[in-house]
Parts: sequence; C-alpha cells; structure tokens
Amino acid sequence: MTAVFTEATRQAMRRSLLSWYGQAGRTLPWRNEPNIYRVWISEIMLQQTQVKTVISYYERWLKAFPTVQNLAQADQQTVLKLWEGLGYYARARNLHYAAQQVVTEFGGQFPEDLEAILQLKGVGRTTAGGILSSARNLPLSILDGNVKRVLSRLMALDRPPAKALKELWQLSDQLLDIENPRDFNQALMDLGATLCKQKNPSCDICPWQSNCQAYQQGTPTDFPRKAPKKKIPTKKLVAAIAFNTQNKVFIQQRPVTGLLGGLWEFPNIEGELKPLLDELFPNAVYQQSLETVFHAYTHFKIELTPKIHTVKNSEGNHWVKISDLDQYPFSKAHLKIIEQLRKING
Ligand code: SF4
Repeated sequence: MTAVFTEATRQAMRRSLLSWYGQAGRTLPWRNEPNIYRVWISEIMLQQTQVKTVISYYERWLKAFPTVQNLAQADQQTVLKLWEGLGYYARARNLHYAAQQVVTEFGGQFPEDLEAILQLKGVGRTTAGGILSSARNLPLSILDGNVKRVLSRLMALDRPPAKALKELWQLSDQLLDIENPRDFNQALMDLGATLCKQKNPSCDICPWQSNCQAYQQGTPTDFPRKAPKKKIPTKKLVAAIAFNTQNKVFIQQRPVTGLLGGLWEFPNIEGELKPLLDELFPNAVYQQSLETVFHAYTHFKIELTPKIHTVKNSEGNHWVKISDLDQYPFSKAHLKIIEQLRKING
C-alpha cells in the first residue's frame, strides 16, 4: 500500500518534523560539522553501529587520523586496531583504501559531488547522501536502516524494505526538504532512532502521527515486514592456544580480504583440533581448556573452545607475550579468549 502525500501534506510534514527536531534533536559530535572528512568517518561508523557506541570510536579515530592524509598514510594494523570491537571490519579496510583514493585520485581533496564521492570504496547512495547533505547541505535523500523503518510505517508497506527499495527511495526523495536538507535528514534519522524505534515506538509524541498509516491501523510494530527468517548455522570451532618455553603464545594473521580480514587470531579449526596441531605444533602437549566463547556474525554463529597446549620447539615470528597482545587487532571472539588468558597469567 503506497501512501500518497500531496505537496501540501509534505510541506506540513517537513515543518512538523523540523519543529520537533529543533526541540528534541540530539547533540552529536559530527552534527553541523563542516569538515567533510569527519562527516564521512561518522557516516561509515554509523552504518551498522549505534550512536552511543560510535562516539568514543569516532573521537579516538580523529585523534589518531585528524586528516584524510593521515589515514591514507597509516598502516592497516593501526587502522584495524582503532576499529577493534566495532565489527564489520570491511568498513575500516574500505575507509583506509578510500583515503588512499582521495590522495591518489582526487589530489588530496575530499570529493564534494555525488558522482565522485560514489567512486570511493564503501560509499553507497545513502552514505553519499548522508555525507553531502550533512557537510554541504546538498539536497540528497537518505535511506539507512532507521529511515527504512520510519518510511515503511508511514506507508504501511506490505513487503520487507529490501523488496521495495525503489518506492522507499521515492518517498525519501519526495519528503526531503530541499530548502533545508541537512536538518531534514538529521531529523529523520533522529526520529527513527529516538521515537520510531523497532520496539515500543513513541507514537504519542511523534510529529508524524497523523500521517502514519501504520499508526492509523493501530499496528506500528507490524512494520517493517520481515523477510522469512533463515536458520543461522552454528560452527563449533576449537582454538589452539600454544605457549612456548618462554611463555609466549602463538598468533596468526587472517588473510587481508574476507571476513575479519587482516585481524589476528589464535589458530582454530572446525571440529577436531588434531589436524591443526599435526600441521602447526606436532609435539604439543595438552594442558587445559578455557571457557567456550560464543559470538554471532551476520550469517552464522560460532562456539569457540580454546585449548591450551605447551610446545617445546617454537619457530616463526608470531610468538607474543600476553602483555603485548593488545598491540594487535583481534576480533571480539578472540578478545574474549585473551581476557581469560590474562586472568590465568595474573
Ligand atoms: S506514528 Fe509511530 S510508527 Fe508512525 S512514524 Fe511516528 S513513531 Fe513511527
């Protein structure tokens, strides 16, 4: 079911949203920020992460890399270390790559038009709209997760948002206040994040209550419609925590592309540990198991059981003291193992 808003209704909706935003909008470090590089960083961090988590990462990042040139010159390990714990690590690798694109392809000047900015790795249409409306007040609409939820409810959309992107983009375009795109987009994001929440939306104080079909039907939380759930498989993994005679532990780096690319980890394998031990530490002696670690990624979950072994002959470079592990970027699951190792090692 498509909502049809007349231009007069759309104008009234813009006014009511902006008036609510004037009173209830959030104060955020990147808001009204004219530095387009900073706005870009915030937009990428916010793609899959909530504001309250992003703020401290954003501040630390800008201390380490105050300019796009600083980011372009950094080594990938430093970049990943600053991203550690934020998840979806391709975002960090893409930021790093795109900073190098800015330096090599755009003469060090962050691009300021839509076509150019879309050439940067990791920047799609909604991120480009977010950056250019926020930093330059350009009339470009957005369609992030929060906005999809608000618009789906306004329209009482009968399909999951992923199946109706064209209509959702159209509605976002139609509603956009081209006189004031910066505030309008920020207000729309705030509405989604603070009132039109997934659970328990605050419809009683929503400026768009009288325009919202889901509210009129009395069923806002029935929207957005969900795609049928796929069963998420669980992988049972075992990690070899190998200590050498100097009490150093073995770590390895994942390939730079793909899931958790470039991060460090303890060697691990699905199923039995023996083939991995035979390959890496044939004379390893089992000592003890640590608590199993659980973690959920987008398409699967893991149960990771760390098993401590001692090893007499240790070769290679990647034997590290427990106290030095924090110099390397690890995924959340392996950070949970490190926490346990620290407790054991005092
Ligand atoms: S009335 Fe409720 S469901 Fe509709 S947009 Fe407002 S908060 Fe969301």
